[in-house]
Amino acid sequence: MGHRPPALLAAVSIDVVRSGRRLLHEVNLQVAAGEHWALLGPNGAGKSTLMAILGARGHPTTGTVDVLGKRLGRVDMRELRTHIGHVDPRWRIDIPLTAHEVVLTGLTNTPELDRRHHYTEAEHRHADELLELLGMTARRESLWPVMSQGERGRTLIARALMPRPALLLLDEPATGLDLAAREKLLTGIDQSRSEVPDLASVLVTHHLEDLPTSTSHAMLLRDGRVVAAGPVDVALTSSTISRCFDHDVVVRRADGRWAAVAA
Ligand code: ADP
Ligand code: MG
Repeated sequence: MGHRPPALLAAVSIDVVRSGRRLLHEVNLQVAAGEHWALLGPNGAGKSTLMAILGARGHPTTGTVDVLGKRLGRVDMRELRTHIGHVDPRWRIDIPLTAHEVVLTGLTNTPELDRRHHYTEAEHRHADELLELLGMTARRESLWPVMSQGERGRTLIARALMPRPALLLLDEPATGLDLAAREKLLTGIDQSRSEVPDLASVLVTHHLEDLPTSTSHAMLLRDGRVVAAGPVDVALTSSTISRCFDHDVVVRRADGRWAAVAA
Protein backbone atom coordinates (compact mmCIF):
# COMPACT_ATOMS: atom_id res chain seq x y z
CA MET A 1 0.00 0.00 0.00
CA GLY A 2 1.34 3.42 -0.91
CA HIS A 3 1.60 5.94 1.89
CA ARG A 4 -0.79 8.88 1.56
CA PRO A 5 -0.89 11.89 3.87
CA PRO A 6 -4.25 12.57 5.58
CA ALA A 7 -6.95 13.95 3.30
CA LEU A 8 -7.63 17.70 3.22
CA LEU A 9 -10.81 16.93 1.33
CA ALA A 10 -12.89 13.80 1.71
CA ALA A 11 -16.22 13.41 -0.05
CA VAL A 12 -17.82 10.04 0.66
CA SER A 13 -20.67 8.77 -1.47
CA ILE A 14 -22.21 12.15 -2.13
CA ASP A 15 -25.38 12.77 -4.09
CA VAL A 16 -26.64 16.24 -4.96
CA VAL A 17 -30.28 16.75 -5.89
CA ARG A 18 -31.42 20.25 -6.89
CA SER A 19 -34.91 21.16 -8.13
CA GLY A 20 -35.72 17.45 -8.30
CA ARG A 21 -32.71 16.68 -10.55
CA ARG A 22 -29.86 14.41 -9.45
CA LEU A 23 -26.74 16.39 -10.39
CA LEU A 24 -24.16 14.16 -8.66
CA HIS A 25 -24.41 10.40 -8.06
CA GLU A 26 -22.29 8.51 -5.54
CA VAL A 27 -19.22 10.71 -5.91
CA ASN A 28 -16.14 9.82 -3.82
CA LEU A 29 -13.08 12.01 -3.71
CA GLN A 30 -10.06 12.22 -1.40
CA VAL A 31 -7.50 14.97 -1.87
CA ALA A 32 -4.32 15.07 0.24
CA ALA A 33 -1.83 17.88 0.85
CA GLY A 34 0.48 18.34 -2.11
CA GLU A 35 -1.97 16.77 -4.58
CA HIS A 36 -3.20 18.74 -7.58
CA TRP A 37 -6.38 17.35 -9.08
CA ALA A 38 -7.93 18.02 -12.44
CA LEU A 39 -11.71 17.77 -12.52
CA LEU A 40 -12.68 17.06 -16.12
CA GLY A 41 -15.93 16.51 -17.93
CA PRO A 42 -18.25 17.86 -20.60
CA ASN A 43 -20.45 20.91 -20.08
CA GLY A 44 -23.15 20.14 -17.55
CA ALA A 45 -21.31 17.14 -16.04
CA GLY A 46 -21.60 18.57 -12.52
CA LYS A 47 -18.08 19.97 -12.11
CA SER A 48 -19.10 23.36 -10.73
CA THR A 49 -21.73 21.71 -8.53
CA LEU A 50 -19.00 19.56 -6.97
CA MET A 51 -16.63 22.53 -6.65
CA ALA A 52 -19.28 24.53 -4.75
CA ILE A 53 -19.49 21.73 -2.19
CA LEU A 54 -15.71 21.29 -1.94
CA GLY A 55 -15.50 25.07 -1.41
CA ALA A 56 -18.01 24.92 1.48
CA ARG A 57 -20.57 26.89 -0.52
CA GLY A 58 -23.24 24.22 -0.38
CA HIS A 59 -24.19 20.88 1.16
CA PRO A 60 -24.63 17.50 -0.50
CA THR A 61 -28.11 15.97 -0.35
CA THR A 62 -26.68 12.70 0.98
CA GLY A 63 -23.19 11.51 1.87
CA THR A 64 -20.53 13.25 3.93
CA VAL A 65 -17.94 15.87 3.09
CA ASP A 66 -14.96 16.77 5.27
CA VAL A 67 -13.14 19.92 4.22
CA LEU A 68 -9.84 20.61 6.03
CA GLY A 69 -10.89 18.15 8.71
CA LYS A 70 -14.31 19.77 9.28
CA ARG A 71 -17.58 17.96 8.52
CA LEU A 72 -19.94 20.09 6.38
CA GLY A 73 -23.18 20.58 8.26
CA ARG A 74 -21.44 20.73 11.63
CA VAL A 75 -19.27 23.82 11.17
CA ASP A 76 -19.49 27.51 10.40
CA MET A 77 -19.20 27.45 6.58
CA ARG A 78 -18.11 31.11 6.45
CA GLU A 79 -15.20 30.49 8.79
CA LEU A 80 -14.23 27.39 6.80
CA ARG A 81 -14.26 29.36 3.54
CA THR A 82 -11.56 31.70 4.88
CA HIS A 83 -9.11 28.75 4.55
CA ILE A 84 -10.07 28.01 0.95
CA GLY A 85 -8.95 29.97 -2.10
CA HIS A 86 -11.80 29.75 -4.61
CA VAL A 87 -11.13 31.32 -8.01
CA ASP A 88 -14.03 31.94 -10.33
CA PRO A 89 -12.79 33.91 -13.37
CA ARG A 90 -16.27 35.28 -13.93
CA TRP A 91 -15.94 37.22 -10.68
CA ARG A 92 -16.95 40.85 -11.20
CA ILE A 93 -15.44 43.94 -9.65
CA ASP A 94 -15.96 47.38 -11.08
CA ILE A 95 -13.87 49.50 -8.74
CA PRO A 96 -10.62 50.71 -10.33
CA LEU A 97 -8.26 48.87 -7.95
CA THR A 98 -4.70 48.13 -9.01
CA ALA A 99 -3.49 44.54 -9.33
CA HIS A 100 -1.63 44.96 -6.03
CA GLU A 101 -4.79 46.21 -4.30
CA VAL A 102 -6.94 43.41 -5.74
CA VAL A 103 -4.49 40.88 -4.28
CA LEU A 104 -4.69 42.62 -0.87
CA THR A 105 -8.51 42.28 -0.87
CA GLY A 106 -7.93 38.52 -0.70
CA LEU A 107 -7.01 38.93 2.99
CA THR A 108 -10.57 39.92 3.87
CA ASN A 109 -12.18 38.29 0.81
CA THR A 110 -14.01 41.54 0.08
CA PRO A 111 -14.60 43.27 -3.28
CA GLU A 112 -12.73 46.37 -2.09
CA LEU A 113 -10.02 47.25 0.42
CA ASP A 114 -11.36 46.96 3.96
CA ARG A 115 -11.03 50.37 5.66
CA ARG A 116 -11.03 48.72 9.09
CA HIS A 117 -8.06 46.53 8.19
CA HIS A 118 -4.55 47.90 8.67
CA TYR A 119 -2.48 46.42 5.81
CA THR A 120 0.97 45.72 7.24
CA GLU A 121 4.30 46.00 5.45
CA ALA A 122 4.51 42.20 5.53
CA GLU A 123 1.11 41.92 3.83
CA HIS A 124 2.11 44.38 1.10
CA ARG A 125 5.32 42.37 0.57
CA HIS A 126 3.39 39.08 0.43
CA ALA A 127 1.03 40.58 -2.19
CA ASP A 128 4.04 41.59 -4.29
CA GLU A 129 5.62 38.13 -3.93
CA LEU A 130 2.40 36.55 -5.18
CA LEU A 131 2.21 38.96 -8.14
CA GLU A 132 5.79 37.97 -8.94
CA LEU A 133 4.92 34.26 -8.69
CA LEU A 134 2.10 34.76 -11.20
CA GLY A 135 4.31 36.81 -13.55
CA MET A 136 2.41 40.04 -12.81
CA THR A 137 5.16 42.26 -11.34
CA ALA A 138 5.18 44.56 -14.38
CA ARG A 139 1.38 44.94 -14.02
CA ARG A 140 1.41 45.80 -10.31
CA GLU A 141 -0.17 49.23 -10.89
CA SER A 142 -2.48 48.18 -13.74
CA LEU A 143 -6.13 48.96 -13.04
CA TRP A 144 -8.56 46.04 -12.95
CA PRO A 145 -11.06 47.50 -15.50
CA VAL A 146 -8.37 47.75 -18.20
CA MET A 147 -6.59 44.44 -17.52
CA SER A 148 -6.72 41.66 -20.11
CA GLN A 149 -8.64 38.52 -19.23
CA GLY A 150 -5.38 36.62 -18.69
CA GLU A 151 -4.02 39.31 -16.36
CA ARG A 152 -7.26 39.23 -14.39
CA GLY A 153 -7.06 35.46 -14.11
CA ARG A 154 -3.52 35.57 -12.76
CA THR A 155 -4.40 38.43 -10.38
CA LEU A 156 -7.34 36.44 -8.99
CA ILE A 157 -5.11 33.42 -8.29
CA ALA A 158 -2.66 35.68 -6.43
CA ARG A 159 -5.66 37.13 -4.53
CA ALA A 160 -6.87 33.66 -3.59
CA LEU A 161 -3.39 32.74 -2.28
CA MET A 162 -3.12 35.91 -0.16
CA PRO A 163 -4.60 34.41 3.07
CA ARG A 164 -2.27 31.37 2.63
CA PRO A 165 -5.10 28.86 2.09
CA ALA A 166 -4.55 25.12 2.50
CA LEU A 167 -6.82 24.44 -0.45
CA LEU A 168 -7.06 26.19 -3.83
CA LEU A 169 -10.08 25.65 -6.11
CA LEU A 170 -9.85 26.89 -9.71
CA ASP A 171 -12.98 26.70 -11.86
CA GLU A 172 -12.05 26.90 -15.58
CA PRO A 173 -9.20 29.38 -15.05
CA ALA A 174 -7.99 29.18 -18.68
CA THR A 175 -11.34 29.45 -20.46
CA GLY A 176 -11.36 32.17 -23.10
CA LEU A 177 -7.61 32.87 -22.97
CA ASP A 178 -5.42 33.05 -26.06
CA LEU A 179 -2.42 30.73 -26.32
CA ALA A 180 0.18 33.04 -24.74
CA ALA A 181 -2.15 34.09 -21.91
CA ARG A 182 -3.01 30.47 -21.17
CA GLU A 183 0.66 29.45 -21.06
CA LYS A 184 1.46 32.32 -18.66
CA LEU A 185 -1.46 31.33 -16.44
CA LEU A 186 -0.46 27.65 -16.36
CA THR A 187 3.15 28.58 -15.57
CA GLY A 188 1.87 30.75 -12.72
CA ILE A 189 -0.22 27.86 -11.37
CA ASP A 190 2.79 25.51 -11.56
CA GLN A 191 4.96 28.05 -9.75
CA SER A 192 2.47 28.73 -6.96
CA ARG A 193 2.11 24.99 -6.40
CA SER A 194 5.87 24.46 -6.15
CA GLU A 195 6.24 27.48 -3.85
CA VAL A 196 3.69 26.07 -1.35
CA PRO A 197 4.45 22.31 -1.16
CA ASP A 198 1.54 21.49 1.20
CA LEU A 199 -1.08 23.23 -0.92
CA ALA A 200 -3.79 20.98 -2.34
CA SER A 201 -5.77 22.09 -5.35
CA VAL A 202 -8.59 21.14 -7.68
CA LEU A 203 -8.74 22.65 -11.17
CA VAL A 204 -11.82 22.31 -13.37
CA THR A 205 -11.60 22.28 -17.14
CA HIS A 206 -13.10 20.57 -20.16
CA HIS A 207 -9.87 20.78 -22.17
CA LEU A 208 -6.90 18.48 -21.50
CA GLU A 209 -4.66 21.16 -23.04
CA ASP A 210 -5.56 23.44 -20.09
CA LEU A 211 -3.92 21.16 -17.50
CA PRO A 212 -0.74 22.48 -15.86
CA THR A 213 2.24 20.10 -15.73
CA SER A 214 1.90 19.93 -11.92
CA THR A 215 -1.42 18.03 -12.24
CA SER A 216 -0.97 14.84 -10.19
CA HIS A 217 -4.48 13.32 -10.11
CA ALA A 218 -7.69 13.54 -12.10
CA MET A 219 -11.38 12.86 -11.67
CA LEU A 220 -13.55 12.49 -14.77
CA LEU A 221 -17.26 13.24 -14.46
CA ARG A 222 -20.04 12.52 -16.91
CA ASP A 223 -23.73 13.17 -16.14
CA GLY A 224 -22.86 13.53 -12.46
CA ARG A 225 -21.13 10.15 -12.26
CA VAL A 226 -17.43 9.39 -11.83
CA VAL A 227 -15.95 7.81 -14.97
CA ALA A 228 -12.41 7.53 -13.57
CA ALA A 229 -10.42 8.92 -10.64
CA GLY A 230 -6.88 8.57 -9.36
CA PRO A 231 -3.28 9.39 -10.29
CA VAL A 232 -3.01 10.87 -13.80
CA ASP A 233 -1.35 7.74 -15.22
CA VAL A 234 -4.50 5.70 -14.58
CA ALA A 235 -7.21 8.37 -14.79
CA LEU A 236 -6.12 10.27 -17.93
CA THR A 237 -5.99 7.66 -20.67
CA SER A 238 -7.42 7.47 -24.20
CA SER A 239 -10.06 5.08 -22.93
CA THR A 240 -11.21 7.11 -19.90
CA ILE A 241 -11.26 10.43 -21.79
CA SER A 242 -13.13 8.88 -24.75
CA ARG A 243 -15.77 7.51 -22.37
CA CYS A 244 -16.03 10.73 -20.42
CA PHE A 245 -16.59 12.91 -23.51
CA ASP A 246 -18.41 10.21 -25.49
CA HIS A 247 -16.02 10.71 -28.40
CA ASP A 248 -13.09 8.56 -29.55
CA VAL A 249 -9.83 10.37 -28.88
CA VAL A 250 -6.19 9.47 -28.36
CA VAL A 251 -4.61 11.09 -25.32
CA ARG A 252 -0.95 12.02 -25.63
CA ARG A 253 1.42 13.33 -23.03
CA ALA A 254 4.51 15.33 -23.98
CA ASP A 255 6.75 17.49 -21.78
CA GLY A 256 4.35 16.97 -18.89
CA ARG A 257 1.34 18.36 -20.77
CA TRP A 258 -1.66 16.51 -22.20
CA ALA A 259 -3.43 16.69 -25.54
CA ALA A 260 -6.38 14.84 -27.04
CA VAL A 261 -6.53 14.22 -30.78
CA ALA A 262 -9.33 12.57 -32.75
CA ALA A 263 -8.74 8.81 -33.00
P1 ADP B 1 -20.45 21.90 -15.23
O1 ADP B 1 -19.76 22.84 -14.31
O2 ADP B 1 -19.83 20.54 -15.28
O3 ADP B 1 -20.61 22.44 -16.62
P2 ADP B 1 -22.71 22.29 -13.43
O4 ADP B 1 -22.25 21.65 -12.18
O5 ADP B 1 -22.69 23.76 -13.49
O6 ADP B 1 -21.95 21.66 -14.68
O7 ADP B 1 -24.21 21.81 -13.71
C1 ADP B 1 -24.55 20.46 -13.88
C2 ADP B 1 -25.98 20.36 -14.31
O8 ADP B 1 -26.82 20.74 -13.23
C3 ADP B 1 -26.35 21.28 -15.46
O9 ADP B 1 -27.24 20.60 -16.32
C4 ADP B 1 -27.04 22.46 -14.77
O10 ADP B 1 -27.96 23.05 -15.62
C5 ADP B 1 -27.72 21.77 -13.61
N1 ADP B 1 -27.91 22.61 -12.41
C6 ADP B 1 -26.97 23.34 -11.78
N2 ADP B 1 -27.49 23.94 -10.68
C7 ADP B 1 -28.80 23.57 -10.64
C8 ADP B 1 -29.90 23.84 -9.75
N3 ADP B 1 -29.74 24.65 -8.68
N4 ADP B 1 -31.09 23.28 -10.03
C9 ADP B 1 -31.25 22.45 -11.10
N5 ADP B 1 -30.29 22.17 -11.96
C10 ADP B 1 -29.07 22.71 -11.75
MG1 MG C 1 -18.92 24.72 -14.60
